[in-house]
Amino acid sequence: MKVLEKGKWDMPWTAEVICTEKQCGAKLLVEEGDVCVVDYSSKNDFKVTCMVCGTTVYMSGKDIPLRVTRPLDQKRKYSSSDY
Ligand SMILES: [Zn+2]
Repeated sequence: MKVLEKGKWDMPWTAEVICTEKQCGAKLLVEEGDVCVVDYSSKNDFKVTCMVCGTTVYMSGKDIPLRVTRPLDQKRKYSSSDY
């Protein structure tokens, strides 16, 4: 197969996230390598760790490009009770 036009798959992605810890509230610039999956979650959940206070900040997978979430999803652990 040949790629005629690359489209936007490889576009760099970052997101601004506000830390959900009330006593912190840091504004964070999340990069692709910062995103982790939430294991054993039945939802399409992802998380980042606030580098100021260490709180886990949850993000919805629909806010993150498939290019970033797909390899992470392949490593996601699922709870056996989800069937
Ligand atoms: Zn924080």
